[in-house]
Amino acid sequence: MALYRDDGVVLRTYRLGEADRIVVFYTRSHGKVRAVAKGVRRTKSKFGARLEPASIVHLQLYEGRNLDIVTQAESVGPLPQLRTDLDRFGRASVLLEVIDQIGTEGEPDPMLFKLLTGALTELDRAGNPMVVPAFVARVLVLEGVQPLLEACVHCGTEVDLVAIDLSEGGVLCREHRRGEPISNGARAVFEHLFEGRVRQVLEATSEPVASEVEQMASRMIEQHIERRLKSSTVLHQHLAT
Ligand SMILES: [Zn+2]
Repeated sequence: MALYRDDGVVLRTYRLGEADRIVVFYTRSHGKVRAVAKGVRRTKSKFGARLEPASIVHLQLYEGRNLDIVTQAESVGPLPQLRTDLDRFGRASVLLEVIDQIGTEGEPDPMLFKLLTGALTELDRAGNPMVVPAFVARVLVLEGVQPLLEACVHCGTEVDLVAIDLSEGGVLCREHRRGEPISNGARAVFEHLFEGRVRQVLEATSEPVASEVEQMASRMIEQHIERRLKSSTVLHQHLAT
């Protein structure tokens, strides 16, 4: 069996038998990895609490036939606030779920890995609610589905933009409105995010725009993941026939 090392983020874990757990990681160099952590549910486990969701760890694994086996896990950046603050942990869980949905086994994406660890670290440090929208915007750019925000996708006007519909590809004017309403403030924040001006958004977004942006970002990513799942199902059906 081959031994390998990698850095990974714990996305989720589930029980296996009496004492073991299956841990799903998103790793820097191997993409998504499912591995067995033996004895992790015993109180004297050598892994301790290092394999909890959102942990960032240096890993050593044995390559198994079906599942790999975790032989070492060292904490890289302990994220203490994420563990104790429910709001922060809730936001971190959104990031983990997104990566779980779009990450692929055996297809590493170091950019995505860096984005995830950066967002988790920032959430732990400052708990800024704009971390999730910033992350979502970056993911959508990486996935090539950045919405048009400057002009109505239907008629091209740049005034009176009142709605957004991702399935239409962006914002809409009052006459062509569809999807959901968007305020000028929220639209401006998303323009900054999609153009990479993240620092500005983290520092200067106040309520109620921040809540609107955060809710809209979750719906944006949900919609994208749903469409992605549908298109892969269609593709599989197509390949099967
Ligand atoms: Zn229009």
